[in-house]
Amino acid sequence: MSPIENRLAQAQQLPNWQLSASAVSCLCAILQNHTARIPSDEVRGLLAAEAVSLKTLMQQLMLVAQQFATAPVSDFLVGAAALGETGDIHLGANYEFEALPLNCSVHAEQACLSNALLSGETQLRSIALSAAPCGHCRQFLHEQREATSMTCVLPGNETLLLPELLPQAFGPKQLNVDTFLFEAEDNSYTLSHPPADSDLAQMSKLGLPLLPLSHAPYSQSPAAAVVRTVDGVCHRGVYLENAAFNPSLPAFQSALAQMQMTNSRECGLSHALLLELEQPTISHAQTSREAWRTLSNGVLYQAGVRIE
Ligand SMILES: [Zn+2]
Repeated sequence: MSPIENRLAQAQQLPNWQLSASAVSCLCAILQNHTARIPSDEVRGLLAAEAVSLKTLMQQLMLVAQQFATAPVSDFLVGAAALGETGDIHLGANYEFEALPLNCSVHAEQACLSNALLSGETQLRSIALSAAPCGHCRQFLHEQREATSMTCVLPGNETLLLPELLPQAFGPKQLNVDTFLFEAEDNSYTLSHPPADSDLAQMSKLGLPLLPLSHAPYSQSPAAAVVRTVDGVCHRGVYLENAAFNPSLPAFQSALAQMQMTNSRECGLSHALLLELEQPTISHAQTSREAWRTLSNGVLYQAGVRIE
C-alpha cells in the first residue's frame, strides 16, 4: 500500500467519515497526480456523486489531510483543507521535526496555504480545520489581501470570519506594505554563477521560477527551495513572510510540507537546493544547513541569484 493509499484507508476508519469507497479511490488517484490539491472539476464531481455540501466535503478532506500529519513532539495531528478562489481545494498538515528546534515546525494552516500558493492558487476563501487555529496561524492567514472575508470552519461545525478570530489585527497595512500573499512579483531571476553540476542545474530550473512567488516585502529577501527525495521526485518551496515576522515560513520547510502530502514522504531526502539573493538582508543559509544535516546525509546546494 502506498503512503497515500495508507492514509486514505486510515481516514475511512474514522467514526465521522462519510464518503463512499468510490470517492476514496477517486481521491487516491487525484492526490497521486496533484500535490495536495483537489482540482475544481473534481470537487464538483465529488459534490454531485456524494450528495454532500461543500462545507461537509471540506471537512472530510480535512480529515484526509490530518492523516498526513507528522507530530513526533506533540503527538497532536492537525489537518487543514482550504477552498481557493479557483474552486480548487488544497490540503495541509502539521509537520514537526525530531531533534530540531520547535520554531522549525510547520503548522497545518501554513502547509495548506503554502501548498495552495505552489499550485497556482490566487486566494483562500475558506479553511476547514481539525482544531481551532493557534494565534500564530491566525496571524499567518491575515497576510492575504482578502483576509477579512475569509472564513474558518472549526471543529463543532462553527464557521467564523477570520476577523472574529483575530480582532484589531496587526498586518501589512500597519507597516505600509501593499503586497500580500499570493501576489507574485514581476521580477524573474537567474543564478549569479553558472551551475557547478547537472543536479544543481536541474534543480535550479525548478527553483528559479518559484522566487517571484516568495512573499518577502519586509526583508526584500525572497527565497525558494527544492528538495529531492531518494525516488527522484522534486518538491518545491517558497519563503513566506508575515507582518509579525515570527509566523514566517522558510522555503525549506515549505518544500518539506509539500513532500509530506506525497508518496515520496517515506523515501528519505537525497538533495536540496536553497536559492537566495547574493547578499540578502536576511539569510536562511545557516539555519537551512543545520536543519538539512539533521534530516539527511545528502547533498545541499546553496546558490545565489540576481534579478534578470
Ligand atoms: Zn498554528
